Amino acid sequence: MDIVVIGGGAAGMSAASKAKRTDNSSTVTVIESGNFVSYAECGIPYYLSGKVENYESLIHYPVSEFIEKRGIKVITGKRVSGVDTDNKEIILENGEKMNYGKLVVASGASAIKSKFGTLDHVYSVRTLDEAINIKKSNSGKRIAIVGDGILGLELASEFALSSKDVSLISKHDFLFPKMDPKVVGEMLSDFRERVKVFLSSNVKNMLNENKSLKIELENASLDVDSVFFAVGTVPNTQFLKNSKIRMNEHGLIEVNAMMETNVKDVYAAGDCATSINRITGKSESQPLAQVANKMGRVAGSNIAGKEMKFPGGLGTTLVKIFDYEIGFCGLNVEKAGKEGFSPESKIVKGKSRANYYPGGSNLSLKIVYDRESRRLLGAEVCSRDNGAWRLNTLETAIFSGMTVDDLFYNDLGYTPPFGPVWDPIIIAASLTMRD
Ligand SMILES: Cc1cc2nc3c(=O)[nH]c(=O)nc-3n(C[C@H](O)[C@H](O)[C@H](O)COP(=O)(O)OP(=O)(O)OC[C@H]3O[C@@H](n4cnc5c(N)ncnc54)[C@H](O)[C@@H]3O)c2cc1C
Repeated sequence: MDIVVIGGGAAGMSAASKAKRTDNSSTVTVIESGNFVSYAECGIPYYLSGKVENYESLIHYPVSEFIEKRGIKVITGKRVSGVDTDNKEIILENGEKMNYGKLVVASGASAIKSKFGTLDHVYSVRTLDEAINIKKSNSGKRIAIVGDGILGLELASEFALSSKDVSLISKHDFLFPKMDPKVVGEMLSDFRERVKVFLSSNVKNMLNENKSLKIELENASLDVDSVFFAVGTVPNTQFLKNSKIRMNEHGLIEVNAMMETNVKDVYAAGDCATSINRITGKSESQPLAQVANKMGRVAGSNIAGKEMKFPGGLGTTLVKIFDYEIGFCGLNVEKAGKEGFSPESKIVKGKSRANYYPGGSNLSLKIVYDRESRRLLGAEVCSRDNGAWRLNTLETAIFSGMTVDDLFYNDLGYTPPFGPVWDPIIIAASLTMRD
């Protein structure tokens, strides 16, 4: 069996490794357009800020590990420009063609580029190659970030922590609308003390002027040394537009739970493909590292003849902004309503540890549940201490289909350094019992 994988990121290398491990007689070839495979994109903000000094630390395995130890052929620096599924061949940018028996498309996504991207020191970042080039060009002391999503806030906080003078430009009229301001209010006011925030602002113009970069907004202008656009991603699927592989209106390759596309012997996994929402069962985008790795593994296993099914994800997003652990998963009230649930929510403002135990902080969390079935549907958490484990506990409860009553009786471990005896999670569940 000749297996070809397009893309050497999380999904691609997981697919390649699993396929080879499952069927050692297969020939597996990975084609990667960049210079690196199998590295931690999620570590790039820490490399850019200097917290992680060397980019080499972000590389999980060198190419030699795959070639010499795993028996996988890895070709870097070559871009696939087309796929002909009738003749079962891929076409490379230099005109070369390569046949496949089974194909995995794991080409990920790219950061949306700014129309000012040709100016010096205007960046958007996705790959390690891009990050290395940014570091080489020296982004300076005064940094502007455009976009107040997860990456925008993460970059802003990392740069501010490394003593940069950071401004954040958001088109929204309040910061970080991804989460309920009642949950993240404390984090946002801290954020605004450390980062200059421009709300309801769009970049009108940008120019290199006197060794600075001038950014003109509707009501203000600022001089910075560099600007990072963090305004979202697009799937890397443009090279498939003349193929028979079906994509949705956002350019995501449509796959089923086995990562099969509509074309026989063609699979897709990771950020370039749809994923299943565990609650609604519908296809959506879940551009997250664990999802990509698991989708890749499922694709690789199925290709090699051992059936695996991806049961769907919850879009669980966890991030550290300054010293706050924040995150969300599942459905928020608005989305739950649109999906036909009767959503109710409870917000708890509690403590991360027993009151008397040193080192704790405030902890806010929100749960969303269905009034009729009492099924837990979504959660949000924000705290400087012990926030991440609460989000992951709530995610596990949602993933396994628990009701809010199950959540109340769920036998969480307790000890003062990690939570009060009436944990905010249990309090949230108990509030639903008063209705
Ligand atoms: C800065 C940053 C921080 C992040 N932080 C987190 C986090 O904290 N938690 C989290 O869950 N997720 C995070 N993510 C998202 C996570 O990294 C992605 O969801 C994950 O890497 C997706 O894996 P993938 O294999 O689908 O795509 P990628 O890892 O992007 O790999 C795709 C590969 O395909 C290659 N490629 C593309 N087109 C072609 C072509 N035509 N021919 C050949 N090769 C091609 C690309 O060069 C790339 O190497 C972050 C992403 C970024 C950029």
